[in-house]
Amino acid sequence: MIPFSPPHIDQAIIDEVVDTLKSGWITTGPKTKRFEKELSAYCGNPVTLCLNSATAGLEIMLRWFGVKEGDEVILPAYTYSATANVIVHCGAKPVFLDIGEDFNISAQAVQKAITAKTKVIMPVDFAGLPCDYDELHSIVTKPEIKSLFAAATPEQQKLGRILILSDAAHSFGAMYNGKKAGTFTDVSVFSFHAVKNLTTAEGGAIAFNLPAPFNNQEIYTQLCITTLHGQNKDALAKTQPGNWKYDIVEAGYKMNMTDIMASIGLVELSRYDSGILSKRKHIFDTYTNAFKQFGWAIIPQYQHEQKTSSFHVYPLRIQNITEQQRDTIITHIFAKQVSVNVHFLPLPMTSFYKQLGYNISQYPNTYAHFANEISLPVYVDLTESQLKTVIEAVVSSINEVLKS
Ligand SMILES: *Cc1c(COP(=O)(O)O)cnc(C)c1O
Repeated sequence: MIPFSPPHIDQAIIDEVVDTLKSGWITTGPKTKRFEKELSAYCGNPVTLCLNSATAGLEIMLRWFGVKEGDEVILPAYTYSATANVIVHCGAKPVFLDIGEDFNISAQAVQKAITAKTKVIMPVDFAGLPCDYDELHSIVTKPEIKSLFAAATPEQQKLGRILILSDAAHSFGAMYNGKKAGTFTDVSVFSFHAVKNLTTAEGGAIAFNLPAPFNNQEIYTQLCITTLHGQNKDALAKTQPGNWKYDIVEAGYKMNMTDIMASIGLVELSRYDSGILSKRKHIFDTYTNAFKQFGWAIIPQYQHEQKTSSFHVYPLRIQNITEQQRDTIITHIFAKQVSVNVHFLPLPMTSFYKQLGYNISQYPNTYAHFANEISLPVYVDLTESQLKTVIEAVVSSINEVLKS
């Protein structure tokens, strides 16, 4: 069976993890701090905070901005549950938007959805393709949109407008206007979950890029405390001679990254462009060249005007098929020993969000993209002959179902 997205674990990663295990320090410490600095150097943003997941990063940023009951947060209906769940955790209302042809939310749709209750927009760079950040920024800074914004916390007053919190779980390494993800907007949150482009098994990072008068370094220091029990010294600082005494300054959370996780990330990052992105791009281009000759194929956008994807998910779509036919095609592909996937089950189709009153009929383009979508395997260890097997399995399965 050709798997969908196994991690690439080689001797370099094993050596770095063993080095940490033998170092006498396995939780948050020097390797996590080094990984944070190297992430900022790679992305070009002022400062980065590593955490145990992207979900934790998204939630802590909503809480930092003071998002609470009565507030609205705008996001796509077509995303993973984490993007919406954190809004619910804060007591606020998720305002789902239908997506455009590129699977992302459009600036026009965002503008229409903004109300006096809107505090945050959470664009998702689906499959690794950046959203239209220039357009999103020009909307949140428009005088009539800014005057609608009802600041209720010191942070909201300081920003004076809607916060753009990018769910960049897919887009680490993506480019927009010649710059890297992490710099496109106020705050971006990456995921280093096992299936993501760059992994630490579990993990995530907040890339801060807030405009003046915010001091990103100060916010980083403050959130180090918030994400570790509200304790004013981390475990490593407490080990310094005589430095045991600590204080709890708030009811903080437990969201820190360990040095074991960071050691995987350090190796992944050191070869990210040459060893990971280039291979993923090659797989995307090979799929596109193989499928574009077929009338049934809708090829995903991944290099579009001023944007380059991080090549995270290859979402192939098939013209004029139903959701049931798509599911049958997937069964045929699995029967040929090839694993594929669907990104995502739209949130208004899940039990929890349905019960909150959301209905997929209000998101027709989201449903249309979901119903005929199949995500294909993309990973570093996928060989040329496996790639050929995947393409043959996909083409023959589609032909079998379309002819039946
Ligand atoms: C994976 C993913 C997340 C969650 O990332 P974790 O690191 O697992 O918390 C959030 N949003 C999207 C779009 C994702 O694909």
